[in-house]
Order: sequence, then structure tokens, then C-alpha cells
Amino acid sequence: MARVPKLDPEFCCFRLRTGRSKIHGWGIYADQDIPANRKVIEYTGEKISVTEAGRRQNTPYLFVLNDRCMIDGAVGGSGAEFINHSCAPNLVTRIVRGHILFMSLRPIRKGEELTVDYNYDDTDETMGCICGAPNCRGTINIKDESGELSKCSTPPSVRPKSGR
Ligand SMILES: [Zn+2]
Repeated sequence: MARVPKLDPEFCCFRLRTGRSKIHGWGIYADQDIPANRKVIEYTGEKISVTEAGRRQNTPYLFVLNDRCMIDGAVGGSGAEFINHSCAPNLVTRIVRGHILFMSLRPIRKGEELTVDYNYDDTDETMGCICGAPNCRGTINIKDESGELSKCSTPPSVRPKSGR
């Protein structure tokens, strides 16, 4: 059952649009120039426990919030769940007070597809990557320097900031 991509303007800080992606299926595109270091869109969805997430293995839109909770973008997602992975992304994830924000890493031109590094770890199924970036690591999973998949259970970019 394919979902029709839809953006919720309430969670978009710039003009964005959906479109067919060269990377995978549907993607989200900038529909205006976006400066660096700006909040672009919030990743929303149903907040569920890790245990519940284990029961929902078929949802492709789970996002790690912290050690206990995940966000299922398939339920009440803002559209950010359609942003594809790239090994050379133009967005970075920041978790602020339980909110998952996608910030621009660099200036993004109108018409560019928005991408983020999913940072899947070795507890996730190994997923091949075809993002086309010159530094593409070949999988969506993070590998450490020895070439082994990272042992980190919560990738740095999806860790909540302590004390904030
Ligand atoms: Zn890649």
C-alpha cells in the first residue's frame, strides 16, 4: 500500500514540494532557496516505545528519538518521512526537547532534493545505497574505520542533547 506523499505546511519552515526522486520513490524538494543552518522541516509522527516499534517492523518510517522512544512517521507524518537518505546530505538532524528537526547543513538551491543521512546502525538490516554521492559508502548503515558496521546503538546524530 503506497502512501501518497503529502507535506503538512504546519511543520515546514520553507516552501517545499513532493516529487519523484532519482534516489528512491518519492522525495521532498526545496521550492525556494534555503540558507544554511535553518530549520527546514520537523519530522513528526506517532511517538511509540522501542517495544512497540519492534511490533511494527513493516513500517518504513521509524525514527529513533532516544533509547526508549521512536517516532513512526507513517502515522501523522509531516512529509519529512519521505526525505531520502544520502551519504552527502544537505540536511542534518537535531533533536530539541523531543522534537526531531531537520536543519539545512549548507545553502540549498530551489529545485534540489532534500536528503539526510539516516545513520542506520548494525542492528538494522543492511540496506544498499544508490544515492550517487562521490563519497557514497554503498550502504545506508554507518561503518567504522575498520570497515565493520558501527556498534553504536544510537547514532550520534539521532541522540538527544542532554539537559536541553
Ligand atoms: Zn550513498
